[in-house]
Amino acid sequence: MLTHILGYPRIGSHRELKKASERYWSGKSSLKDLLSAGHTIRQQNWQLQKQAGLDLITSNDFSFYDQVLDMSLAVSAIPERYHPILLDKKGNAELDLYFAMARGYQKDGLDITAMEMTKWFDTNYHYIVPEFHKDQQFKLFSTKVIDEFVEAKNAGILTKPVLIGPVSFLLLGKEKENGFDRLDLVKNLLPVYLEILARLEKLGAEWVQFDEPFLAMDLSDKAKATYSVVYKEIKKAFPQLKSILATYFEGLRDNLDLAVSLPACALHVDLVRYPEQLDEVLAALPAKTSLSLGLVDGRNIWKNDYAKSLDFIEKAFKKLGKDRVFIASSCSLLHSPCDLNLETNEQILLPEIKDWMAFAKQKLNEVVTLKQLAQPETKESAAHLLAANQHSIASRKSSNRIHKTPVKDRVASITPADESRKSPFGVRQQKQKAALNLPLFPTTSIGSFPQTDEVRGWRARWKKGELTDAHYQQLLEDETAKAVRWQEELGIDVPVHGEFERNDMVEYFGEQLDGYVFSQNGWVQSYGSRCVKPPIIYGDVSRPQPMTVHWSAFAQSLTEKPMKGMLTGPVTILQWSFVRDDQPRRDTCTQIALAIRDEVSDLERAGIRIIQIDEPAIREGLPLRRTDWEGYLQWAVRAFRISSTGVEDETQIHTHMCYSEFNDIIQSIAEMDTDVITIETSRSQMELLDAFVNFSFPSEIGPGVYDIHSPRVPSSEEMLDLLKKALKVLPARNLWVNPDCGLKTRKWPETDLAMRNMIQAAKELRAIV
Ligand code: GLN
Ligand code: ZN
Repeated sequence: MLTHILGYPRIGSHRELKKASERYWSGKSSLKDLLSAGHTIRQQNWQLQKQAGLDLITSNDFSFYDQVLDMSLAVSAIPERYHPILLDKKGNAELDLYFAMARGYQKDGLDITAMEMTKWFDTNYHYIVPEFHKDQQFKLFSTKVIDEFVEAKNAGILTKPVLIGPVSFLLLGKEKENGFDRLDLVKNLLPVYLEILARLEKLGAEWVQFDEPFLAMDLSDKAKATYSVVYKEIKKAFPQLKSILATYFEGLRDNLDLAVSLPACALHVDLVRYPEQLDEVLAALPAKTSLSLGLVDGRNIWKNDYAKSLDFIEKAFKKLGKDRVFIASSCSLLHSPCDLNLETNEQILLPEIKDWMAFAKQKLNEVVTLKQLAQPETKESAAHLLAANQHSIASRKSSNRIHKTPVKDRVASITPADESRKSPFGVRQQKQKAALNLPLFPTTSIGSFPQTDEVRGWRARWKKGELTDAHYQQLLEDETAKAVRWQEELGIDVPVHGEFERNDMVEYFGEQLDGYVFSQNGWVQSYGSRCVKPPIIYGDVSRPQPMTVHWSAFAQSLTEKPMKGMLTGPVTILQWSFVRDDQPRRDTCTQIALAIRDEVSDLERAGIRIIQIDEPAIREGLPLRRTDWEGYLQWAVRAFRISSTGVEDETQIHTHMCYSEFNDIIQSIAEMDTDVITIETSRSQMELLDAFVNFSFPSEIGPGVYDIHSPRVPSSEEMLDLLKKALKVLPARNLWVNPDCGLKTRKWPETDLAMRNMIQAAKELRAIV
């Protein structure tokens, strides 16, 4: 029986890598400094795994930016536009080329765009998308995987290097021209993998881990066939090398036969995400193959339930015998924060709640302890660990901090009437037109205005106790009042208060809801040097008191125009938090929905006649397997409706969604039954609007007319053109005028100019219809 993890976080427990990279990028430190920061983190991670007692220690899980980009560089999938850097003699190192691919390059008269970045399956991690061309050739370029193996070996550790498997690598990429299928590149790609493996084997590598997450996704027949070819070739070339084929984030399901047919020494399955698969996999596994049980959750912060895991291990033992069972994390620990021991502030994280958690470092011990508990010879000596674990698990199960009868009762008594508006949209639209008396093509914004250094500074000082509550509040009120006056002066039809009081659109609500806790150091890599610290939902969620009413009511008191109230929707709040694993996500989402519903009612009661409930994350919550989409969309839409329908017909409900494919979920977006939806469309030249038009979307729409990601100020002509385009396909009564998204990352001068131009465009449009 062997223990291992699929990978360890590489940011460093104090975000050392982030700091070192950013210093290097800004020219404040040398390449040598950065390389040495990387070296230190790798050594620490290996030592941690060694000290914990893992049998296999992983290498090449470290990355200066992204493991997929590492693979692109390894096989020389370097787009042509970077070749000037490649050939450059100005002392650019391989790492500079690498960062140029990740971040773009503007230096020495060159201006090269970065490679595209996208979400890593359904996590909040983002990878750099490989670019492929027809007849693309590959060769070994970066030897990082080999170098790190040697580095560890020199430190006395024989590691298990991890590589993105060749098929997943191709599937993760994108064809940059027509007329070919990237899977056909496999014959050019495979030789480079074989070369890497040859070098590793020569250096003494015994185990190699191939990450093939696509084996757990929906696969085309062609992809299946490619899998068979690739792994047969690898086995043929290296009959001695022991390989682990790692799948995660989903179950093998219909790919089970394929997966077990591939010649690997061990197959790794994710039993956190898809525990149901164990029996099937055990039944199908060929005689000599080992099974790596992904039992310790790599994507969440809860303690493993040893008793439950031991049942799985027991089952596997019975069927396979001890030697063919591995104990592992479900996926790479990349998605876990580093070290729970750093959470020392008992006011922030109560010891009782902390006792239910495990971060990456603690998860190493969990993997090892499970092995000890599973073996008769070590079971006795580890018994106290099992007892302590059972104590924590029991405390969490029964804690009245978690379980709130009133919340559960309320969820249970939701009626169909709580999920729908009083009247259908057509009726509401008429009543709202009469009540709100807005001009044709009403102008508005998505909610946030520039969060200046000054505003952030106030919050930082307030959090440190350097500003009193009253003083902080006063500063924010002044800023809000300024924003309202500015909007009045511009003539915006539906003003907003500006969201100056919010650090983040989810954290702000998390901080005010019961059932949430926060960590001080629970950072997780989002992309490159960017880390996020998701709030943690540990218990039944409820709203002790109004969260936004003060700000909206205050802003409304300063203007006659209808002030738009601004909330984050239940699905987005769920999606961007660490969630409970002791109840279905859907149930947690429903609780959040009720809290938002109460906030909506309070806003309405306070005289707010337009309320926007943002759901930018509704699409990213889609399950990885297509067959599961419908189930998810059903509860996600229901949650949104619970949050939004408790109002009078006259109250106008908006939602907002950022840049995303709308086509395949348009039916569900319609079922959310909002009065107005604002979407991001300007970069696609209104193309994204097609989904709504083709569907004959029933309600009003604000297709964003300018890109808020760039400081560039668009002219009113430009925006007018976009609006005319929209007007060709939408009825005039349904068209709103707004930017693509919130303006919090912009500066005031460009915001002022751009919004003025936008209002001008709306006026001109009114003049010509
Ligand atoms: N109301 C939010 C804002 O303006 C919406 C942000 C988002 O869609 N991501 O900042
Ligand atoms: Zn947005």
